[in-house]
Amino acid sequence: MSLFKTVGKFGAYGRVGEFKTRRGTVVTPTFMPDATRGAVKSLTPEQVYGTGVQVVLNNTYHLHLQPGEAIVEGLGGVHDFGRWSGPILTDSGGFQVFSLSKLSKVTEEGVTFKHPVTGEMRHITPEISMQIQFALGADMIVAFDHLIGLGEVTSEQTLDAFERTHRWLERCVVEFKRLCAGMSEAERPLLFGVVQGGLDLDLRRKSLEIVQASEVDGIAIGGLSVGETQAELFAVLEALAPLYDPTRPRFLLGVGTPSDLKFAYEHGIDMADCVLPTRNARHATVWTTGDEKIHLTNAQFNEDPEPIEPGCDCYACAEGFSKAFLRHQFKVGEPLAGSLASIHNLRYLTRICEAYRLNESNG
Ligand SMILES: [Zn+2]
Repeated sequence: MSLFKTVGKFGAYGRVGEFKTRRGTVVTPTFMPDATRGAVKSLTPEQVYGTGVQVVLNNTYHLHLQPGEAIVEGLGGVHDFGRWSGPILTDSGGFQVFSLSKLSKVTEEGVTFKHPVTGEMRHITPEISMQIQFALGADMIVAFDHLIGLGEVTSEQTLDAFERTHRWLERCVVEFKRLCAGMSEAERPLLFGVVQGGLDLDLRRKSLEIVQASEVDGIAIGGLSVGETQAELFAVLEALAPLYDPTRPRFLLGVGTPSDLKFAYEHGIDMADCVLPTRNARHATVWTTGDEKIHLTNAQFNEDPEPIEPGCDCYACAEGFSKAFLRHQFKVGEPLAGSLASIHNLRYLTRICEAYRLNESNG
Protein backbone atom coordinates (compact mmCIF):
# COMPACT_ATOMS: atom_id res chain seq x y z
CA MET A 1 0.00 0.00 0.00
CA SER A 2 1.31 3.41 -0.88
CA LEU A 3 1.62 5.77 2.06
CA PHE A 4 2.43 8.72 -0.17
CA LYS A 5 -0.10 9.98 -2.69
CA THR A 6 1.37 12.06 -5.52
CA VAL A 7 -1.08 14.68 -6.75
CA GLY A 8 1.18 16.66 -9.08
CA LYS A 9 4.70 17.09 -10.36
CA PHE A 10 7.09 19.93 -11.07
CA GLY A 11 10.39 19.82 -12.91
CA ALA A 12 12.10 16.50 -13.50
CA TYR A 13 11.85 15.18 -9.93
CA GLY A 14 9.70 17.51 -7.83
CA ARG A 15 6.35 16.32 -6.57
CA VAL A 16 3.31 17.63 -4.76
CA GLY A 17 1.53 15.12 -2.60
CA GLU A 18 0.22 14.08 0.75
CA PHE A 19 0.49 11.34 3.33
CA LYS A 20 -1.41 10.45 6.46
CA THR A 21 -0.05 10.44 9.99
CA ARG A 22 -2.05 9.50 13.06
CA ARG A 23 -2.50 13.23 13.71
CA GLY A 24 -3.64 14.27 10.31
CA THR A 25 -2.59 14.55 6.69
CA VAL A 26 0.62 16.33 5.71
CA VAL A 27 0.62 18.06 2.32
CA THR A 28 3.98 18.41 0.63
CA PRO A 29 6.40 19.91 -0.09
CA THR A 30 6.55 21.25 3.43
CA PHE A 31 9.00 22.83 5.85
CA MET A 32 9.20 21.82 9.54
CA PRO A 33 10.66 24.22 12.10
CA ASP A 34 12.63 22.76 14.98
CA ALA A 35 10.90 22.86 18.33
CA THR A 36 14.16 21.63 19.78
CA ARG A 37 13.16 21.43 23.43
CA GLY A 38 9.42 21.15 22.81
CA ALA A 39 8.77 24.71 21.64
CA VAL A 40 9.58 26.65 18.49
CA LYS A 41 11.65 29.28 20.26
CA SER A 42 9.68 32.38 21.30
CA LEU A 43 6.50 31.37 19.41
CA THR A 44 3.16 29.97 20.55
CA PRO A 45 1.72 27.01 18.62
CA GLU A 46 -0.97 29.36 17.29
CA GLN A 47 1.69 31.69 15.87
CA VAL A 48 3.50 28.74 14.28
CA TYR A 49 0.29 27.43 12.69
CA GLY A 50 -0.37 30.94 11.43
CA THR A 51 2.73 30.75 9.24
CA GLY A 52 1.42 27.69 7.39
CA VAL A 53 3.61 25.18 9.22
CA GLN A 54 2.01 21.73 9.51
CA VAL A 55 4.62 19.67 11.35
CA VAL A 56 7.22 20.54 13.99
CA LEU A 57 10.34 18.59 14.87
CA ASN A 58 11.32 17.82 18.46
CA ASN A 59 14.85 16.79 19.41
CA THR A 60 14.96 13.43 21.15
CA TYR A 61 18.41 14.09 22.62
CA HIS A 62 17.43 17.35 24.31
CA LEU A 63 14.07 16.12 25.64
CA HIS A 64 15.71 12.90 26.86
CA LEU A 65 18.29 14.87 28.88
CA GLN A 66 15.85 17.49 30.08
CA PRO A 67 13.15 17.04 31.38
CA GLY A 68 13.36 13.34 30.39
CA GLU A 69 10.85 11.28 28.42
CA ALA A 70 9.22 9.87 31.57
CA ILE A 71 8.06 13.33 32.62
CA VAL A 72 6.87 14.20 29.10
CA GLU A 73 5.05 10.88 28.80
CA GLY A 74 3.45 11.36 32.21
CA LEU A 75 2.10 14.69 31.02
CA GLY A 76 0.50 13.15 27.94
CA GLY A 77 3.40 13.17 25.47
CA VAL A 78 4.91 15.97 23.41
CA HIS A 79 1.55 17.09 22.01
CA ASP A 80 -0.13 17.69 25.34
CA PHE A 81 3.12 18.93 26.87
CA GLY A 82 3.78 21.59 24.20
CA ARG A 83 0.13 22.14 23.15
CA TRP A 84 0.84 21.28 19.51
CA SER A 85 -2.03 19.23 18.11
CA GLY A 86 -0.64 18.60 14.63
CA PRO A 87 1.88 15.96 13.62
CA ILE A 88 5.25 15.92 15.41
CA LEU A 89 8.43 14.31 14.15
CA THR A 90 11.25 13.42 16.53
CA ASP A 91 14.78 12.85 15.30
CA SER A 92 16.71 9.86 16.62
CA GLY A 93 19.01 11.79 18.92
CA GLY A 94 21.96 10.53 16.94
CA PHE A 95 22.90 13.85 15.40
CA GLN A 96 23.26 15.55 18.80
CA VAL A 97 24.95 12.56 20.43
CA PHE A 98 27.61 12.65 17.74
CA SER A 99 27.87 16.41 17.29
CA LEU A 100 27.43 17.77 20.83
CA SER A 101 28.97 15.02 22.92
CA LYS A 102 32.71 15.04 22.50
CA LEU A 103 33.14 11.96 24.65
CA SER A 104 30.86 9.68 22.69
CA LYS A 105 32.11 6.14 22.34
CA VAL A 106 30.60 4.05 19.60
CA THR A 107 30.35 0.29 19.86
CA GLU A 108 28.21 -2.14 17.93
CA GLU A 109 25.74 -2.03 20.80
CA GLY A 110 25.26 1.75 20.76
CA VAL A 111 26.75 5.04 21.89
CA THR A 112 27.96 6.09 25.33
CA PHE A 113 28.26 9.79 26.02
CA LYS A 114 28.61 12.19 28.88
CA HIS A 115 25.62 14.26 29.98
CA PRO A 116 26.78 17.78 29.08
CA VAL A 117 25.48 19.26 32.34
CA THR A 118 25.64 16.57 35.02
CA GLY A 119 28.61 14.68 33.59
CA GLU A 120 26.97 11.28 34.18
CA MET A 121 27.44 8.65 31.47
CA ARG A 122 24.45 7.90 29.26
CA HIS A 123 23.91 5.09 26.79
CA ILE A 124 21.74 5.18 23.69
CA THR A 125 21.21 2.14 21.50
CA PRO A 126 18.93 1.79 18.47
CA GLU A 127 16.39 0.14 20.76
CA ILE A 128 16.60 2.86 23.41
CA SER A 129 16.19 5.57 20.76
CA MET A 130 12.98 3.89 19.55
CA GLN A 131 11.73 3.58 23.15
CA ILE A 132 12.43 7.25 23.92
CA GLN A 133 10.65 8.43 20.77
CA PHE A 134 7.66 6.21 21.57
CA ALA A 135 7.53 7.54 25.13
CA LEU A 136 7.65 11.11 23.81
CA GLY A 137 4.66 10.24 21.63
CA ALA A 138 5.89 11.46 18.23
CA ASP A 139 3.89 10.67 15.09
CA MET A 140 6.98 10.25 12.93
CA ILE A 141 10.13 8.75 14.39
CA VAL A 142 13.59 8.35 12.93
CA ALA A 143 15.91 5.35 13.07
CA PHE A 144 19.11 5.73 15.09
CA ASP A 145 22.06 6.11 12.74
CA HIS A 146 25.81 6.47 13.03
CA LEU A 147 26.63 9.99 11.92
CA ILE A 148 30.16 11.02 11.12
CA GLY A 149 31.41 14.49 10.33
CA LEU A 150 33.02 15.44 7.07
CA GLY A 151 36.31 16.71 8.41
CA GLU A 152 39.29 14.37 8.90
CA VAL A 153 37.13 11.38 8.04
CA THR A 154 38.72 8.51 6.16
CA SER A 155 36.83 6.45 3.64
CA GLU A 156 37.29 3.56 6.06
CA GLN A 157 35.46 5.48 8.81
CA THR A 158 32.70 6.47 6.39
CA LEU A 159 32.27 2.86 5.33
CA ASP A 160 32.27 1.67 8.94
CA ALA A 161 29.53 4.15 9.95
CA PHE A 162 27.64 3.35 6.76
CA GLU A 163 27.54 -0.37 7.50
CA ARG A 164 26.71 0.16 11.16
CA THR A 165 23.84 2.50 10.25
CA HIS A 166 22.20 -0.31 8.28
CA ARG A 167 22.76 -2.91 10.99
CA TRP A 168 21.22 -0.48 13.48
CA LEU A 169 18.31 0.12 11.10
CA GLU A 170 17.42 -3.57 11.25
CA ARG A 171 17.43 -3.40 15.05
CA CYS A 172 15.29 -0.23 14.96
CA VAL A 173 12.73 -1.95 12.73
CA VAL A 174 12.50 -4.93 15.09
CA GLU A 175 12.12 -2.70 18.16
CA PHE A 176 9.65 -0.42 16.35
CA LYS A 177 7.45 -3.38 15.49
CA ARG A 178 7.59 -4.64 19.07
CA LEU A 179 6.53 -1.23 20.36
CA CYS A 180 3.70 -1.02 17.78
CA ALA A 181 2.26 -4.38 18.84
CA GLY A 182 -1.43 -3.94 19.57
CA MET A 183 -1.71 -0.67 17.64
CA SER A 184 -3.75 -0.47 14.45
CA GLU A 185 -2.18 0.95 11.27
CA ALA A 186 -4.05 4.21 11.92
CA GLU A 187 -2.84 4.44 15.54
CA ARG A 188 0.86 3.74 15.11
CA PRO A 189 3.57 6.29 14.34
CA LEU A 190 5.57 6.17 11.10
CA LEU A 191 9.20 5.07 11.00
CA PHE A 192 11.80 6.80 8.82
CA GLY A 193 15.06 5.03 7.94
CA VAL A 194 18.17 7.17 7.44
CA VAL A 195 20.32 7.25 4.31
CA GLN A 196 24.01 7.87 5.07
CA GLY A 197 27.24 7.59 3.09
CA GLY A 198 28.85 11.00 3.51
CA LEU A 199 29.73 12.63 0.21
CA ASP A 200 30.45 9.34 -1.53
CA LEU A 201 27.71 9.17 -4.15
CA ASP A 202 28.00 5.41 -4.69
CA LEU A 203 27.64 4.80 -0.95
CA ARG A 204 24.66 7.17 -0.87
CA ARG A 205 22.92 5.28 -3.69
CA LYS A 206 23.65 1.97 -2.01
CA SER A 207 22.38 3.26 1.33
CA LEU A 208 19.14 4.44 -0.27
CA GLU A 209 18.70 1.01 -1.83
CA ILE A 210 19.19 -0.70 1.55
CA VAL A 211 16.86 1.67 3.41
CA GLN A 212 14.17 1.32 0.74
CA ALA A 213 14.46 -2.48 0.95
CA SER A 214 13.71 -2.34 4.68
CA GLU A 215 10.33 -2.09 6.34
CA VAL A 216 10.28 1.66 6.89
CA ASP A 217 7.46 4.06 6.12
CA GLY A 218 9.62 6.97 5.02
CA ILE A 219 13.11 7.81 3.82
CA ALA A 220 15.28 10.33 5.69
CA ILE A 221 18.44 11.76 4.15
CA GLY A 222 20.93 12.31 6.98
CA GLY A 223 24.53 13.36 7.40
CA LEU A 224 24.20 16.60 5.45
CA SER A 225 24.38 20.21 6.68
CA VAL A 226 27.47 19.18 8.59
CA GLY A 227 29.86 21.57 6.89
CA GLU A 228 29.79 20.47 3.27
CA THR A 229 29.64 23.03 0.45
CA GLN A 230 26.38 23.74 -1.33
CA ALA A 231 27.78 22.00 -4.45
CA GLU A 232 28.46 18.86 -2.37
CA LEU A 233 24.96 18.91 -0.89
CA PHE A 234 23.44 19.34 -4.33
CA ALA A 235 25.53 16.49 -5.76
CA VAL A 236 24.09 14.08 -3.16
CA LEU A 237 20.51 15.26 -3.79
CA GLU A 238 21.02 14.94 -7.54
CA ALA A 239 22.44 11.44 -7.24
CA LEU A 240 19.47 10.23 -5.19
CA ALA A 241 16.67 12.03 -7.07
CA PRO A 242 16.03 9.38 -9.77
CA LEU A 243 16.14 6.49 -7.28
CA TYR A 244 13.42 7.22 -4.72
CA ASP A 245 10.56 4.84 -4.10
CA PRO A 246 7.47 6.88 -5.11
CA THR A 247 5.28 5.34 -2.40
CA ARG A 248 7.15 6.77 0.60
CA PRO A 249 7.68 10.31 1.94
CA ARG A 250 11.24 11.70 1.83
CA PHE A 251 12.67 13.88 4.57
CA LEU A 252 15.90 15.88 4.34
CA LEU A 253 17.39 16.53 7.78
CA GLY A 254 18.82 19.88 8.76
CA VAL A 255 18.44 21.94 5.58
CA GLY A 256 16.72 25.31 5.66
CA THR A 257 18.05 28.09 3.43
CA PRO A 258 15.68 29.12 0.64
CA SER A 259 18.09 28.10 -2.12
CA ASP A 260 18.92 24.73 -0.53
CA LEU A 261 15.24 24.02 0.05
CA LYS A 262 14.25 24.87 -3.51
CA PHE A 263 16.94 22.58 -4.88
CA ALA A 264 15.85 19.82 -2.49
CA TYR A 265 12.15 20.10 -3.35
CA GLU A 266 13.00 20.18 -7.06
CA HIS A 267 14.95 16.96 -6.51
CA GLY A 268 12.18 14.95 -4.95
CA ILE A 269 12.40 15.92 -1.27
CA ASP A 270 8.98 16.27 0.41
CA MET A 271 9.91 17.71 3.80
CA ALA A 272 12.88 19.32 5.53
CA ASP A 273 13.68 20.76 8.94
CA CYS A 274 16.15 23.33 10.20
CA VAL A 275 16.78 25.68 13.10
CA LEU A 276 18.03 28.32 10.68
CA PRO A 277 14.87 30.40 10.00
CA THR A 278 14.14 30.97 13.67
CA ARG A 279 17.78 31.18 14.80
CA ASN A 280 18.56 33.75 12.10
CA ALA A 281 15.43 35.67 13.03
CA ARG A 282 16.43 35.91 16.67
CA HIS A 283 19.68 37.42 15.42
CA ALA A 284 17.73 39.99 13.38
CA THR A 285 18.39 38.34 10.00
CA VAL A 286 15.40 37.86 7.73
CA TRP A 287 14.83 36.74 4.16
CA THR A 288 13.07 38.99 1.72
CA THR A 289 12.22 39.15 -1.98
CA GLY A 290 14.66 37.15 -4.09
CA ASP A 291 15.99 35.25 -1.05
CA GLU A 292 17.98 38.32 -0.10
CA LYS A 293 19.06 38.42 3.55
CA ILE A 294 18.70 41.67 5.44
CA HIS A 295 19.93 42.51 8.93
CA LEU A 296 17.28 44.45 10.77
CA THR A 297 19.75 46.05 13.16
CA ASN A 298 21.46 47.92 10.32
CA ALA A 299 21.42 51.70 10.75
CA GLN A 300 19.80 52.11 7.33
CA PHE A 301 16.49 50.93 8.85
CA ASN A 302 16.52 53.53 11.63
CA GLU A 303 13.58 55.45 10.20
CA ASP A 304 12.28 52.89 7.69
CA PRO A 305 8.45 52.84 7.90
CA GLU A 306 8.09 49.78 5.64
CA PRO A 307 7.48 46.23 6.91
CA ILE A 308 10.19 43.58 6.32
CA GLU A 309 8.67 42.71 2.96
CA PRO A 310 5.81 44.84 1.61
CA GLY A 311 3.05 42.51 0.40
CA CYS A 312 4.13 39.62 2.65
CA ASP A 313 1.09 38.04 4.30
CA CYS A 314 2.85 37.06 7.54
CA TYR A 315 1.49 38.53 10.76
CA ALA A 316 4.52 40.81 11.24
CA CYS A 317 4.33 42.37 7.76
CA ALA A 318 0.54 42.34 7.37
CA GLU A 319 0.13 44.10 10.73
CA GLY A 320 2.53 46.78 9.56
CA PHE A 321 5.38 46.40 12.04
CA SER A 322 8.01 48.64 10.46
CA LYS A 323 11.67 47.87 10.03
CA ALA A 324 12.34 50.93 12.21
CA PHE A 325 10.23 49.43 15.01
CA LEU A 326 11.88 46.03 14.67
CA ARG A 327 15.35 47.59 14.59
CA HIS A 328 14.56 49.52 17.76
CA GLN A 329 13.18 46.44 19.57
CA PHE A 330 16.23 44.39 18.59
CA LYS A 331 18.48 47.20 19.80
CA VAL A 332 16.80 47.32 23.23
CA GLY A 333 16.70 43.55 23.56
CA GLU A 334 12.93 43.14 23.38
CA PRO A 335 12.09 39.45 22.64
CA LEU A 336 9.05 40.47 20.56
CA ALA A 337 11.43 41.48 17.77
CA GLY A 338 12.79 37.93 17.48
CA SER A 339 9.28 36.49 17.55
CA LEU A 340 8.05 38.77 14.77
CA ALA A 341 11.13 38.08 12.66
CA SER A 342 10.69 34.31 13.26
CA ILE A 343 7.09 34.52 12.07
CA HIS A 344 8.26 36.27 8.91
CA ASN A 345 11.06 33.78 8.17
CA LEU A 346 8.83 30.74 8.70
CA ARG A 347 6.18 32.27 6.46
CA TYR A 348 8.86 33.00 3.87
CA LEU A 349 9.73 29.29 3.70
CA THR A 350 6.17 27.95 3.85
CA ARG A 351 5.28 30.31 1.00
CA ILE A 352 8.01 28.68 -1.12
CA CYS A 353 6.36 25.32 -0.39
CA GLU A 354 2.90 26.67 -1.19
CA ALA A 355 4.12 28.08 -4.52
CA TYR A 356 5.18 24.58 -5.58
CA ARG A 357 1.87 23.17 -4.40
CA LEU A 358 -0.11 25.79 -6.35
CA ASN A 359 1.93 25.73 -9.53
CA GLU A 360 2.41 22.01 -10.05
CA SER A 361 1.46 20.64 -13.42
CA ASN A 362 -0.91 17.76 -12.91
CA GLY A 363 1.39 14.91 -13.82
ZN1 LIG B 1 6.49 38.95 6.51
